[in-house]
Amino acid sequence: MTKPLWAPWRLEYIKQADELDGCVFCEEAAGTLPESESLLVHRGDAAVVILNKYPYSSGHLMVAPRRHVGSFAGLADQEALEIHRLAVVALDALDATYGPQGFNLGWNLGHIAGAGIADHVHLHLVPRWSGDTNFMPVIADVKVLPEHLLETRNRLRDAWPTG
Ligand SMILES: [Zn+2]
Repeated sequence: MTKPLWAPWRLEYIKQADELDGCVFCEEAAGTLPESESLLVHRGDAAVVILNKYPYSSGHLMVAPRRHVGSFAGLADQEALEIHRLAVVALDALDATYGPQGFNLGWNLGHIAGAGIADHVHLHLVPRWSGDTNFMPVIADVKVLPEHLLETRNRLRDAWPTG
C-alpha cells in the first residue's frame, strides 16, 4: 500500500483560504499579479496552469479553467478538453524537468476534501517519488522560500513547448 502524502502546512492554508481576498486562479488568468508573485506556468485560451503555493510535493501544479466556476459539472466542453490537454503537456514538462516516478492527479471538491479554493475548480497534478512521504518534512521548507517556487515556475516555463 502507498501511504498518503502528509502535508501539514496545507491545513493552515485551508483554514486561511476562506479569508483571502480574490481568487488566485482568476488573478493568474487575468495576468494581474506581478512577476515576483505570479506562479503561472502557462496561460491557455480556456485554462491556466499554475504552481501550487502550498505544495504536496515539489512541482505540484494545478490546471484550472480561466472562468471562475465552482462546479465540476459546470465545466464547458471546451474547458474540460483544454484542461485535459494542458495536463498532458504539464506532465511532460514535469517529467523533463524533475523526472518523478509517478503522479497523482485529482480534483478536490469542497473544503472537506482538501480544496483550499473551493469555488474555482482545479485539477491537481502531484509528482511522486519513491519514499516521498518520508521526504515531506524536507520539502516543507520550500513553502517558506518563495524563490524556490519562482525558480520551479521558471524551469517549467522553459520546459513548456512553444507554438
Ligand atoms: Zn476564480
